[in-house]
Amino acid sequence: MDLIVARNREDLVKARRAGTVALVPTMGALHEGHMSLIRQARVRADQVVVSVFVNPLQFTPNEDFSRYPRTFDADLDACRTEGVDVVFHPAAEDMYALDRQVGISSGEMGARVEGVFRPGHFDGVLTVVLKLFNLVRPDLAVFGQKDAQQLALIRRMVTDLDLPIEILGVPTVREPDGLALSSRNRYLSEDDRRVALALSRALRTGAAQFTAATIRAAAQEVLDAAGPDLGVDYLALVDPATFTEVGDDFGGVAVLAVAARVGGTRLIDNVTLTLNPA
Ligand code: AMP
Repeated sequence: MDLIVARNREDLVKARRAGTVALVPTMGALHEGHMSLIRQARVRADQVVVSVFVNPLQFTPNEDFSRYPRTFDADLDACRTEGVDVVFHPAAEDMYALDRQVGISSGEMGARVEGVFRPGHFDGVLTVVLKLFNLVRPDLAVFGQKDAQQLALIRRMVTDLDLPIEILGVPTVREPDGLALSSRNRYLSEDDRRVALALSRALRTGAAQFTAATIRAAAQEVLDAAGPDLGVDYLALVDPATFTEVGDDFGGVAVLAVAARVGGTRLIDNVTLTLNPA
Protein backbone atom coordinates (compact mmCIF):
# COMPACT_ATOMS: atom_id res chain seq x y z
CA MET A 1 0.00 0.00 0.00
CA ASP A 2 1.25 3.48 -0.85
CA LEU A 3 1.71 6.02 1.90
CA ILE A 4 -1.28 8.35 2.14
CA VAL A 5 -0.79 12.00 3.11
CA ALA A 6 -3.91 13.26 4.91
CA ARG A 7 -4.28 17.00 5.43
CA ASN A 8 -7.72 17.15 7.04
CA ARG A 9 -10.50 15.15 8.68
CA GLU A 10 -12.02 14.12 5.33
CA ASP A 11 -8.68 12.71 4.10
CA LEU A 12 -8.38 10.76 7.36
CA VAL A 13 -11.86 9.27 6.99
CA LYS A 14 -11.05 8.20 3.42
CA ALA A 15 -7.74 6.62 4.50
CA ARG A 16 -9.36 4.59 7.29
CA ARG A 17 -9.32 0.80 6.77
CA ALA A 18 -10.81 -2.05 8.76
CA GLY A 19 -8.74 -3.19 11.74
CA THR A 20 -6.82 -1.59 14.59
CA VAL A 21 -5.16 1.82 14.30
CA ALA A 22 -2.03 3.05 16.09
CA LEU A 23 -1.22 6.76 16.23
CA VAL A 24 2.29 8.18 16.65
CA PRO A 25 2.06 11.93 17.30
CA THR A 26 5.20 13.91 16.30
CA MET A 27 6.31 17.40 15.42
CA GLY A 28 8.34 16.07 12.47
CA ALA A 29 12.10 16.40 11.89
CA LEU A 30 11.97 12.64 12.41
CA HIS A 31 14.95 10.72 13.82
CA GLU A 32 15.64 7.19 15.09
CA GLY A 33 13.72 7.93 18.33
CA HIS A 34 10.57 8.51 16.29
CA MET A 35 11.37 5.40 14.19
CA SER A 36 11.44 3.32 17.36
CA LEU A 37 7.89 4.52 18.20
CA ILE A 38 6.74 3.81 14.65
CA ARG A 39 8.17 0.26 14.75
CA GLN A 40 6.35 -0.44 18.02
CA ALA A 41 3.14 0.86 16.43
CA ARG A 42 3.73 -1.23 13.29
CA VAL A 43 3.90 -4.53 15.18
CA ARG A 44 0.83 -3.73 17.31
CA ALA A 45 -1.76 -2.41 14.87
CA ASP A 46 -3.12 -3.05 11.37
CA GLN A 47 -2.80 0.60 10.33
CA VAL A 48 -0.17 3.12 11.49
CA VAL A 49 -0.90 6.86 11.41
CA VAL A 50 1.96 9.29 12.09
CA SER A 51 0.95 12.89 12.71
CA VAL A 52 3.45 15.61 11.78
CA PHE A 53 2.32 18.89 13.28
CA VAL A 54 4.38 21.63 14.92
CA ASN A 55 1.80 22.61 17.52
CA PRO A 56 1.86 26.38 18.15
CA LEU A 57 -0.14 25.94 21.37
CA GLN A 58 2.68 24.14 23.20
CA PHE A 59 5.36 26.77 22.59
CA THR A 60 5.63 29.63 25.09
CA PRO A 61 6.08 33.07 23.47
CA ASN A 62 9.90 33.22 23.80
CA GLU A 63 10.46 29.68 22.47
CA ASP A 64 11.57 28.34 19.08
CA PHE A 65 8.23 27.79 17.29
CA SER A 66 9.19 29.67 14.12
CA ARG A 67 12.66 28.13 13.87
CA TYR A 68 11.62 24.60 14.91
CA PRO A 69 13.06 22.27 12.20
CA ARG A 70 10.61 21.39 9.43
CA THR A 71 11.80 18.57 7.12
CA PHE A 72 8.55 17.22 5.72
CA ASP A 73 9.91 15.58 2.55
CA ALA A 74 12.56 13.66 4.48
CA ASP A 75 9.90 12.76 7.09
CA LEU A 76 7.72 11.27 4.35
CA ASP A 77 10.64 9.20 3.02
CA ALA A 78 11.35 7.89 6.53
CA CYS A 79 7.69 7.00 7.07
CA ARG A 80 7.55 5.23 3.71
CA THR A 81 10.62 3.17 4.62
CA GLU A 82 9.02 2.13 7.93
CA GLY A 83 5.76 1.05 6.29
CA VAL A 84 3.63 3.84 7.76
CA ASP A 85 0.14 3.85 6.23
CA VAL A 86 -0.95 7.46 6.76
CA VAL A 87 0.89 10.71 7.55
CA PHE A 88 -1.50 13.28 8.99
CA HIS A 89 -0.12 16.75 8.28
CA PRO A 90 -2.75 19.41 8.99
CA ALA A 91 -2.30 23.16 8.64
CA ALA A 92 -2.34 25.13 11.91
CA GLU A 93 -5.32 27.18 10.73
CA ASP A 94 -7.27 23.97 10.12
CA MET A 95 -6.44 22.62 13.59
CA TYR A 96 -7.30 25.79 15.50
CA ALA A 97 -10.15 28.17 14.77
CA LEU A 98 -9.17 31.78 15.40
CA ASP A 99 -11.96 32.11 17.95
CA ARG A 100 -11.32 28.79 19.71
CA GLN A 101 -12.28 28.87 23.40
CA VAL A 102 -11.93 25.45 24.96
CA GLY A 103 -8.80 23.48 25.77
CA ILE A 104 -7.44 20.91 28.20
CA SER A 105 -5.95 21.90 31.56
CA SER A 106 -2.98 19.85 32.73
CA GLY A 107 -3.72 20.86 36.34
CA GLU A 108 -1.15 21.08 39.11
CA MET A 109 0.74 18.18 37.60
CA GLY A 110 1.37 20.20 34.44
CA ALA A 111 2.72 23.12 36.46
CA ARG A 112 5.42 21.01 38.14
CA VAL A 113 9.06 20.40 37.04
CA GLU A 114 9.08 21.14 33.26
CA GLY A 115 5.87 23.16 33.69
CA VAL A 116 7.66 25.64 35.97
CA PHE A 117 9.85 26.67 33.03
CA ARG A 118 7.21 26.28 30.29
CA PRO A 119 3.94 27.68 31.64
CA GLY A 120 1.00 26.48 29.53
CA HIS A 121 3.16 23.99 27.62
CA PHE A 122 1.38 20.86 28.84
CA ASP A 123 -2.07 22.42 28.37
CA GLY A 124 -1.07 22.89 24.72
CA VAL A 125 0.28 19.34 24.46
CA LEU A 126 -2.84 17.73 25.96
CA THR A 127 -5.16 19.85 23.85
CA VAL A 128 -3.47 18.85 20.59
CA VAL A 129 -3.18 15.20 21.64
CA LEU A 130 -6.89 15.02 22.47
CA LYS A 131 -7.72 16.65 19.13
CA LEU A 132 -5.48 14.12 17.35
CA PHE A 133 -7.20 11.28 19.24
CA ASN A 134 -10.61 12.58 18.14
CA LEU A 135 -9.53 13.09 14.53
CA VAL A 136 -7.63 9.80 14.06
CA ARG A 137 -9.66 7.65 16.52
CA PRO A 138 -6.78 5.27 17.28
CA ASP A 139 -6.97 2.13 19.41
CA LEU A 140 -3.38 2.67 20.53
CA ALA A 141 -1.15 5.76 20.77
CA VAL A 142 2.63 5.58 21.15
CA PHE A 143 4.81 8.12 23.01
CA GLY A 144 8.46 8.35 24.06
CA GLN A 145 9.71 8.03 27.61
CA LYS A 146 12.10 10.84 26.56
CA ASP A 147 9.25 13.24 27.38
CA ALA A 148 8.42 11.51 30.67
CA GLN A 149 6.18 14.19 32.14
CA GLN A 150 4.27 14.45 28.87
CA LEU A 151 3.76 10.67 28.85
CA ALA A 152 2.60 10.72 32.49
CA LEU A 153 0.15 13.54 31.76
CA ILE A 154 -1.24 11.76 28.70
CA ARG A 155 -1.84 8.67 30.84
CA ARG A 156 -3.59 10.94 33.38
CA MET A 157 -5.75 12.50 30.66
CA VAL A 158 -6.77 9.04 29.41
CA THR A 159 -7.70 8.02 32.98
CA ASP A 160 -9.33 11.28 34.05
CA LEU A 161 -11.36 11.69 30.85
CA ASP A 162 -12.10 7.96 30.28
CA LEU A 163 -10.57 7.91 26.80
CA PRO A 164 -10.86 4.46 25.17
CA ILE A 165 -7.24 4.43 23.99
CA GLU A 166 -4.26 2.32 25.05
CA ILE A 167 -1.08 4.31 25.70
CA LEU A 168 2.30 2.72 25.01
CA GLY A 169 5.53 4.30 26.33
CA VAL A 170 8.77 3.53 24.47
CA PRO A 171 12.31 3.78 25.92
CA THR A 172 14.55 6.69 24.91
CA VAL A 173 16.82 6.13 21.91
CA ARG A 174 20.33 7.53 22.43
CA GLU A 175 23.49 8.23 20.44
CA PRO A 176 26.33 5.80 21.23
CA ASP A 177 27.83 8.45 23.56
CA GLY A 178 24.59 8.72 25.56
CA LEU A 179 23.03 11.89 24.12
CA ALA A 180 19.27 11.39 23.82
CA LEU A 181 18.10 11.85 20.23
CA SER A 182 16.09 15.03 19.74
CA SER A 183 14.95 17.09 16.77
CA ARG A 184 16.69 20.02 18.50
CA ASN A 185 20.11 18.30 18.52
CA ARG A 186 20.70 19.63 15.02
CA TYR A 187 21.04 23.13 16.54
CA LEU A 188 24.07 22.04 18.60
CA SER A 189 27.60 23.05 17.51
CA GLU A 190 30.41 20.56 18.14
CA ASP A 191 31.29 22.38 21.37
CA ASP A 192 27.62 22.53 22.45
CA ARG A 193 27.30 18.82 21.83
CA ARG A 194 30.25 18.05 24.11
CA VAL A 195 28.68 20.18 26.85
CA ALA A 196 25.28 18.54 26.27
CA LEU A 197 26.73 15.12 27.15
CA ALA A 198 26.66 16.25 30.80
CA LEU A 199 22.89 15.63 30.86
CA SER A 200 23.03 11.89 30.12
CA ARG A 201 26.26 11.55 32.12
CA ALA A 202 24.58 13.11 35.17
CA LEU A 203 21.61 10.76 34.84
CA ARG A 204 23.85 7.69 34.48
CA THR A 205 25.96 8.75 37.45
CA GLY A 206 22.85 9.35 39.54
CA ALA A 207 21.35 6.03 38.51
CA ALA A 208 24.40 4.20 39.86
CA GLN A 209 23.39 5.31 43.39
CA PHE A 210 20.66 3.74 45.55
CA THR A 211 19.10 6.42 47.75
CA ALA A 212 17.33 9.63 46.78
CA ALA A 213 19.88 11.79 48.58
CA THR A 214 22.93 10.19 46.97
CA ILE A 215 21.29 10.04 43.52
CA ARG A 216 20.58 13.78 43.63
CA ALA A 217 24.06 14.64 44.93
CA ALA A 218 25.92 12.48 42.41
CA ALA A 219 23.95 13.81 39.43
CA GLN A 220 24.25 17.41 40.62
CA GLU A 221 28.03 17.05 40.91
CA VAL A 222 28.28 16.07 37.23
CA LEU A 223 26.10 19.02 36.18
CA ASP A 224 28.18 21.43 38.27
CA ALA A 225 31.39 20.10 36.70
CA ALA A 226 30.09 21.04 33.23
CA GLY A 227 30.67 24.70 34.07
CA PRO A 228 28.84 27.85 33.00
CA ASP A 229 28.18 26.71 29.39
CA LEU A 230 25.47 24.42 30.78
CA GLY A 231 22.49 26.44 32.01
CA VAL A 232 20.64 23.95 34.20
CA ASP A 233 16.91 24.65 34.61
CA TYR A 234 16.28 21.74 36.98
CA LEU A 235 17.41 18.38 38.23
CA ALA A 236 14.40 16.60 39.72
CA LEU A 237 13.88 13.18 41.29
CA VAL A 238 10.16 12.55 41.07
CA ASP A 239 7.35 10.05 41.40
CA PRO A 240 6.74 8.97 37.75
CA ALA A 241 2.95 9.11 38.12
CA THR A 242 2.64 12.60 39.65
CA PHE A 243 5.96 14.36 39.04
CA THR A 244 6.17 15.42 42.69
CA GLU A 245 9.67 15.34 44.24
CA VAL A 246 10.31 12.20 46.28
CA GLY A 247 11.65 12.45 49.83
CA ASP A 248 15.20 11.47 50.73
CA ASP A 249 13.91 8.26 52.37
CA PHE A 250 11.76 7.26 49.36
CA GLY A 251 11.81 3.66 48.14
CA GLY A 252 10.40 2.48 44.80
CA VAL A 253 10.43 3.54 41.16
CA ALA A 254 11.34 7.17 40.45
CA VAL A 255 12.29 9.33 37.49
CA LEU A 256 15.45 11.43 37.52
CA ALA A 257 14.84 14.28 35.08
CA VAL A 258 17.03 17.13 33.90
CA ALA A 259 16.63 20.17 31.67
CA ALA A 260 19.40 22.50 30.60
CA ARG A 261 20.25 25.12 28.00
CA VAL A 262 23.33 24.69 25.82
CA GLY A 263 24.09 27.57 23.45
CA GLY A 264 20.58 28.66 22.44
CA THR A 265 19.15 25.15 22.66
CA ARG A 266 17.11 23.72 25.52
CA LEU A 267 17.45 19.96 26.08
CA ILE A 268 15.63 17.54 28.39
CA ASP A 269 16.44 13.98 29.42
CA ASN A 270 15.47 11.48 32.10
CA VAL A 271 16.01 7.95 33.39
CA THR A 272 13.75 5.64 35.36
CA LEU A 273 15.36 4.05 38.42
CA THR A 274 14.48 1.97 41.46
CA LEU A 275 15.43 3.31 44.88
CA ASN A 276 15.96 1.39 48.08
CA PRO A 277 14.46 3.08 51.15
CA ALA A 278 17.21 4.92 53.06
P1 AMP B 1 8.49 15.31 19.12
O1 AMP B 1 8.48 15.22 17.64
O2 AMP B 1 9.79 15.79 19.69
O3 AMP B 1 7.28 16.00 19.69
O4 AMP B 1 8.39 13.82 19.64
C1 AMP B 1 7.37 12.96 19.20
C2 AMP B 1 7.42 11.68 20.00
O5 AMP B 1 8.70 11.07 19.88
C3 AMP B 1 7.20 11.94 21.51
O6 AMP B 1 6.38 10.91 22.03
C4 AMP B 1 8.60 11.85 22.06
O7 AMP B 1 8.66 11.46 23.41
C5 AMP B 1 9.23 10.80 21.15
N1 AMP B 1 10.69 10.92 21.15
C6 AMP B 1 11.42 12.04 20.96
N2 AMP B 1 12.74 11.77 21.08
C7 AMP B 1 12.83 10.44 21.39
C8 AMP B 1 13.93 9.54 21.65
N3 AMP B 1 15.19 9.95 21.64
N4 AMP B 1 13.64 8.25 21.92
C9 AMP B 1 12.35 7.81 21.94
N5 AMP B 1 11.28 8.60 21.69
C10 AMP B 1 11.52 9.89 21.42
